[in-house]
Formats: sequence, C-alpha cells, structure tokens
Amino acid sequence: MKRREVIKSLSVLPFAGSMANQIPFNHKKTYSSKLDLFAELGISPVINANVTMTFLSGSLMQPEVLEAIQSTSQDFANMFEVQDKVGAKIAEMLRVEAAMVTSGAACALTLGTAACITGSDAEKIKQLPNLPGEMPEVIIQKSHRYPFDQAVACAGVKLIEVEGPDDMQKAINERTVMGLFLNCANEHSISHEQFVEIGKANKIPVFIDAAADVPPVENLFKFQKMGFDLITFSGGKMIRGPQSAGLLFGRKDLIEAAKLNHSPHESPIGRAMKVNKEEMFGMYVALKSYLERDHEKEWNEWLGRAERIKSILEKLPGVQGSIRVSPGPANAFPSLRVNWERDKISKTVTDVLTELENGNPKIVAGGREPNLNIGVVLLRPDQVDLVANRVKDILQMG
Ligand SMILES: *Cc1c(COP(=O)(O)O)cnc(C)c1O
Repeated sequence: MKRREVIKSLSVLPFAGSMANQIPFNHKKTYSSKLDLFAELGISPVINANVTMTFLSGSLMQPEVLEAIQSTSQDFANMFEVQDKVGAKIAEMLRVEAAMVTSGAACALTLGTAACITGSDAEKIKQLPNLPGEMPEVIIQKSHRYPFDQAVACAGVKLIEVEGPDDMQKAINERTVMGLFLNCANEHSISHEQFVEIGKANKIPVFIDAAADVPPVENLFKFQKMGFDLITFSGGKMIRGPQSAGLLFGRKDLIEAAKLNHSPHESPIGRAMKVNKEEMFGMYVALKSYLERDHEKEWNEWLGRAERIKSILEKLPGVQGSIRVSPGPANAFPSLRVNWERDKISKTVTDVLTELENGNPKIVAGGREPNLNIGVVLLRPDQVDLVANRVKDILQMG
C-alpha cells in the first residue's frame, strides 16, 4: 500500500480527527513548570541530534501522551481490563487479531518467546525459564544474531543458527518453538516470505522484530499481512510513546499466552517487566496520534530543518552539507551529513562531537571520520538553529 493510500484509509477509522488535531505536535516546549529537577539533581538535559537511543531516554513524548498519562493517574483500574481493552483497540487500529503493551520491544521478545513455549499451560508458565528436559529451540538466521536476541534466550531457549531455507527446514525438530526474524538485518539468507512459509509448513510461529522500523507508517501494517505470527515495535522510538513501552501484536492465541506470562500475574517470567496503566494509555494515545499524523508534512518539516542547518553551516568557507535519507529499515529518515576541507578547518569529526557533548547545553550528534552526521528528527523546533550555530562556532574556531 502506498503512503497516501494508508493515510486515506486510516481516515475512515473511528478515531480519525480526534486528539492529534486538537493539540499541535512539536510544541516548542511541552511542559512549563516551576520545577526544575534537572537543576535540582545536577543532571544535564541533552539535545539529541542523532537517532533514538535508550541511553539518551528514547524519544520525547508528545503533549497528548503526557495528557493521557496525567489524566489517568488519579484513578485505580483493574490491570487485566486495561491491558485487554487497550490491546483490543490497538489491534483494531493495526488491523491484526490481537495486541498488547509491553515494557519495550525487548520485553515483547521475551513474552512472545514465552508464549510460544507455554501456550496457556499454567505449569509451564510457572517453570519458565527452567523447563524440565531439553531446552526449547528458536531458529534464527546467522546474519540475524544481534544484542537483543538475549531477550529471546532469557525465556529459557537455545538459539539455533541457520543459513538459507534448506538449513532452516533441516533444523526444525520437535523442540523448535519459534522462528525469530530481524527485519533490519543487513542480510537475509532466508527472505521474509520464505521464513513465513517454512514456519507455516512446520506449524512453527514466526516472530519479527521491527522495533525501530517506522517510518514509514506502513510498516505497522506490513508484517501481519505477510503472515508473521508475532510482531514487535518499540513504543519509545519514532512512535514517541513512553520509552518504557512497546507493542507486541499478532495471533490471538499467542497474545493471550503472552499476557499469561506477564504482569499483573505474580509469578511468570514477565512479572519483572511490569507495565502500568499510565504507560498503556500513553502507548495507546501515542500510536493513535502517530497513525493520524500527516506523515508527508512531518517528512517535509524534517527536510526543512536539514536544509536550514545546511544553509547556516555552508556560510563557512570549505564546509559542505548534504541531506541523507537512511535507506532503513531502521531509522529511515533524513539527516544532514557535514564535511569540511581539512586545510581550512583542521578539527576532526571526533573533536567536533566531543565539543558538542562537553558544551552547554550538551548536544549529541553522530557520524565518524570523515562525516559528521546531524540528526534532525528528534530536535525540538527551537533547537534547530541552536544546533546549527553551535556546530558553526566549533568549526569556525578551526
Ligand atoms: C531498540 C530495539 C530493540 C529494543 O527495543 P526497546 O523498546 O528499547 O526494548 C529491539 N530490537 C531492535 C531491532 C531495536 O532496534
């Protein structure tokens, strides 16, 4: 489906035109408060001129997400009911059988794996991750191994590496509980379609990790159509929900099993990955707002920011900017690449990055020799010129 068609078809859903239209996003400053906890605790706020990163607190929540959190914070609610009803609404929005809110995509990986192992078996749920007997196995392509597969392994499974469809077929046995697919991997020795097909032929659920893979918004609908049984996206990346939230969606029986492995139940593996109601409501509103957004307009705004910074920096002799769009699937959005002639400006990229980080306010940009990379999508509007001028000052000093 083309971007425009998605936007058009979304507008017929019941939520269209509600919240996001009333509250403009990209406020200059989301919150005005007398409190300054950064100052009170001596913590430096950071300007993120890079991409969403957990160590930099993910993304900034939109005002409507903060409102969702605040407005639901003064009443108790039954958490089973909140998860069920928020999940049902999210599933409807994503045109998928079922959905739930997890504490990040990493938690979704653990819960999805747990669901594939236990189903609704209460005894197994209690025993995880130490099932008696041989360890359950999860199939993964060799080129898909990545730091977050630890979140799968910690459900008590062994990861079995395969290369190519034949190898995958051969590796499947009675201990195999799931196949894991990393959407943003550089190489697929088994394509998405083949992975789904082999999974289906062997009745093995297949799980795709697409945590950082919006934009484009279409990706939120793509993998359920391809036949993946479980799908995860981070809540706290470009969807801009709470950074401690994530989405797990797909087959109804598996989502129900994942819920049985999660808080508020007291003893399953996911109890240690609790999500409270504020994050669930916040995630729901963030997703709704993201789906309703004018993505073309937002994209053009990002390009405009990159152009603006480029024009400020190119006032310096020997400095050149070029706008790049990362091909994705992860972090597929524009940024500005900056290069300079070293006989005019002797600083290295590392020098510039260090000075940005040590300045006040702290700015985190990216890139490595010979390219400085300035991310624009996470800047508040009032930070665009500030970042441009700081980089300009640093380069100007040689
Ligand atoms: C960010 C990321 C995760 C972890 O997501 P959280 O929401 O931070 O838990 C997992 N997989 C991939 C590919 C990611 O990019």
